[in-house]
Amino acid sequence: MSTAYRAPDLLINGQWCAGKHAMTMPIVNPANAQTLDHLHLASSDQIEQALQAAHRGFVIWQKVPAHERCARLERGVAKMRQNLEHIATLLTLEQGKPLAESRAECAMAADLIKWYAEEARRTYGRIVPARLPNSSMQVHKLPIGPVAAFSPWNFPLVLSSRKIGGALAAGCSIILKAAEETPASVAAMVACFHEELPEGALQLLYGVPSEVSEQLITSPLIRKVSFTGSVPVGRQLAQLSARHLKRVTLELGGHAPVIVCADADIDKTVTMMVTHKFRNAGQACLAPTRFYVDRQIEGPFLEAFVAASHRLVLGDGMQSTTQMGPLANARRAAAVRDLIGRSVEAGAKAYQAPVPSAGFFAPVTVLTEVTPDTPVMQEEPFGPVVTIAPFDTLDHALQLANNSPYGLAGYLFTDSARSIHQVTQGLEVGSLAINGIGVSVPEAPFGGVKDSGHGSESGTEGMEAFLETKFVHLCV
Ligand code: NAD
Repeated sequence: MSTAYRAPDLLINGQWCAGKHAMTMPIVNPANAQTLDHLHLASSDQIEQALQAAHRGFVIWQKVPAHERCARLERGVAKMRQNLEHIATLLTLEQGKPLAESRAECAMAADLIKWYAEEARRTYGRIVPARLPNSSMQVHKLPIGPVAAFSPWNFPLVLSSRKIGGALAAGCSIILKAAEETPASVAAMVACFHEELPEGALQLLYGVPSEVSEQLITSPLIRKVSFTGSVPVGRQLAQLSARHLKRVTLELGGHAPVIVCADADIDKTVTMMVTHKFRNAGQACLAPTRFYVDRQIEGPFLEAFVAASHRLVLGDGMQSTTQMGPLANARRAAAVRDLIGRSVEAGAKAYQAPVPSAGFFAPVTVLTEVTPDTPVMQEEPFGPVVTIAPFDTLDHALQLANNSPYGLAGYLFTDSARSIHQVTQGLEVGSLAINGIGVSVPEAPFGGVKDSGHGSESGTEGMEAFLETKFVHLCV
């Protein structure tokens, strides 16, 4: 392995600099629990410098024509693609996912920013037919202003790229506080763009999360908040933003239902869902988790799913044979095991595969005999855990699937037009994949309902989140 791991500096006002907070944070390789390096965190003075620079950066960047913004972001994307192997290696070392998944994540993050860059040229306003002679009525779309963005550790590149791409393409400046647990891959991605941008247009902070969010969100210089992470933190940041009347986009957790009808192809469905579910060890907000299977095929489906999921090869993500890596940190491994334990105590039956002894692994687990009150049915597992339960009618399946505080992604397997129509109308989710897995692509909106958040990222809706509307009534 040629990539040596080093905790990154902060990017403030166009300069990489060491954090000056009294605290540092260890960065740990989850595959072996070894400390890779220590991260120096931002002090309050440094956060204030970033705020001032974001304001100056916005004044300059918003005036750069959209064509030019697009060209500069595309040059950054090209650098990202050239550096893909390096960025992906950092990601696997600090986050644990298999290298092939890290490469795919880096490629997806580049695609996302590319799409937003192109979309910069299509942020059209409109002309409204005039009411008065010699006048025009125009609707302008303008960048909202400096953005404070917070991204998590599960898909650090993709989830940061949605914010970086949208904000910069729209003409906003952005201060990104990415997750302290996975800092180097995001810094390597940011490094591909910052030389293309005015100082302060794109800045990267790591700090004590509550200190950074409090200082950024309460600053009058910040005009927009974008957060991806857990429901409790999202709620907290939404309250803080509301007190200061900041526009907010929240992408919080999910507990995705999968409805498998009797006419589904069992082998095809299982193969697709096992790959999709155990990607990133199940630490994905859109991961399929609650399977509702028509009672007529429940037995063969369960047998096929347990067999396929237990064949997965677990190990260090740097090994080419590894299909599932560890969980990202010790906290998550303990939380997943605890949730499995409480669910089994409540009557669930567990089918579990063995795990490697070193590192933060949790067993691949299929839980059956669950009821709506089983802890795993209400709490997001965010790990390699699924539940499989039978349904008798599609109405019954929808009722079970909607009995959750979450509403992010959902999946349906059937060839029946009637079933597709019923689930499309009745399932309470922001994204639905039918006979496939593609709930999140750069050109379509991705967001949740209920506790899964509000607003969308990606697609034209994702761009709109960084724009405001000005009506201009011109009389000549
Ligand atoms: P957590 O609530 O402690 O932290 C979630 C993320 O928010 C982390 O990246 C953290 O650095 C950040 N954070 C925490 N407090 C913050 C604050 N006051 N201001 C700004 N950022 C803050 O949870 P965790 O243990 O890291 O993850 C557990 C749960 O989070 C999971 O079970 C899952 O539900 C959820 N999660 C969701 C996503 C997603 O993609 N929607 C991503 C990561 C985690």
